[in-house]
Amino acid sequence: MAWLGGSLRSQLRGAREVLASVLFPAPCRLCGQSLDTACAVPFCRACLVSLRQRLAEPLCHRCGRPIISGAVLGGATQPMCHFCRGYAYAFDLARSFGAYTPGMARAILLLKYASVTPLGDWFAARLAETVASDPGMFRADVLVPVPLDRGRKRERGYNQAELVAKPLARLLRIPFKSFLLVRTRPRPNQLRLTRRERWETVRGAYATERGAKVDKLRVLLVDDVFTTGATLDACSKALKGAGAARVVGLTVARALPFLPGVVAASQDWDLGVMKPPGQAALPSRPKHSPDARSDVRPPGSAPSPHRRPTVMQEPVLVLNATFEPINVTAVRRAMVLMLKGVAQAEEISHTLVHSASRSLQVPSVIRLLAYRHIPQQTRALSRKNILLRDRNTCQFCKRTLPASELTLDHVVPRSRGGRSSWENLVACCYQCNNRKGDRTPEEAGLALARRPRPFTLHTSRQLMRLIGNKDEKWRKYLFY
Ligand SMILES: [Zn+2]
Ligand SMILES: [Zn+2]
Ligand SMILES: [Zn+2]
Repeated sequence: MAWLGGSLRSQLRGAREVLASVLFPAPCRLCGQSLDTACAVPFCRACLVSLRQRLAEPLCHRCGRPIISGAVLGGATQPMCHFCRGYAYAFDLARSFGAYTPGMARAILLLKYASVTPLGDWFAARLAETVASDPGMFRADVLVPVPLDRGRKRERGYNQAELVAKPLARLLRIPFKSFLLVRTRPRPNQLRLTRRERWETVRGAYATERGAKVDKLRVLLVDDVFTTGATLDACSKALKGAGAARVVGLTVARALPFLPGVVAASQDWDLGVMKPPGQAALPSRPKHSPDARSDVRPPGSAPSPHRRPTVMQEPVLVLNATFEPINVTAVRRAMVLMLKGVAQAEEISHTLVHSASRSLQVPSVIRLLAYRHIPQQTRALSRKNILLRDRNTCQFCKRTLPASELTLDHVVPRSRGGRSSWENLVACCYQCNNRKGDRTPEEAGLALARRPRPFTLHTSRQLMRLIGNKDEKWRKYLFY
């Protein structure tokens, strides 16, 4: 019997090979290499391996967006991305299988426009793996694909989200209910939409089918790519509006900002231009958890023993359209602003960053292309900003320390009615903090290095000058 089984298997394999070569006589549709082995999808082994790459942690707990900054995780078990802190998506959670790499983009285009339908099964299997990694998160009563409008579907003959969602429903044994949701307003006929257009064209564009029973259902909503989340958001609004208990979004790919060759996707990516309420309008980096270290090490402070700053974290001077210096950011974020077409490089540093396919020059000074009004208001009151204002220096013993060895001290203790404000919070080492205890500085025999003040544009400029002293290229913008 073993013999028979083996023979049967090899016969089947042979049949599959023949079928594959009939179906896909062409070379690998991603890299052009000739296909030596049978596979239901027209990709070579190497391309398949790269397509199977799953999205790497850490992810935003809510929207599943990879959190790029290594600084974000100060022990947070459920970290949230910058965007989710300022906006609550209508879906409860969203996750994706892989990154929207150039290869993935090609593969999805093949599914979308070249009718390579076996790809739908292949992607479904990948999504099933994602679900299997945390079944509780994806538990659902129905599986619904993001719909196309009727005209578009007629024209293409199928809905690519459905091609993935249907086999996925089978794999997960969840009822497939494509009729629950309809697109009532067609998408405009342009391939590339800006971030804002994306949000505007989908707003109110989806509805639940009349008479559809959605009440109290847990919905698994499936689509091909998560770009801004606008589509999943609009669909979720419709489903929730009809009474759905929970909506979890699941997409094959996730657009990322830093992959070379995916500039189109990164243009509608946003890391921080959409500011959370209360934060100053400076194009600052996303706020991190309280333990996060600042990107820009205050001058004179010792390098962190835990994390050596990489090229991507080096400081870049940000100028307003009028060449007025307004902020310091990290290379990483400066490059996002450039990719988005928000800023251009004015000065280039000597450093290069390398990706698999090319090298990029790193900016040292960038300038916003459109003038941004910078109010004279202060920055958000945060641990990071207080440490930055006090230049990582304990305001009692005047030692400059890594952020991890500093805490915040209420000058007038909270128990005495001291408030959490710019004027009452200072950077403080743990020893001084212990020594001071629940007393005022005078009672503890400690003196403040200087009177704490709000973090204004003036403070920023002082910091910029301190950092800029070292950088030849910054000087002409800072000392005038
Ligand atoms: Zn290939
Ligand atoms: Zn998020
Ligand atoms: Zn101290």
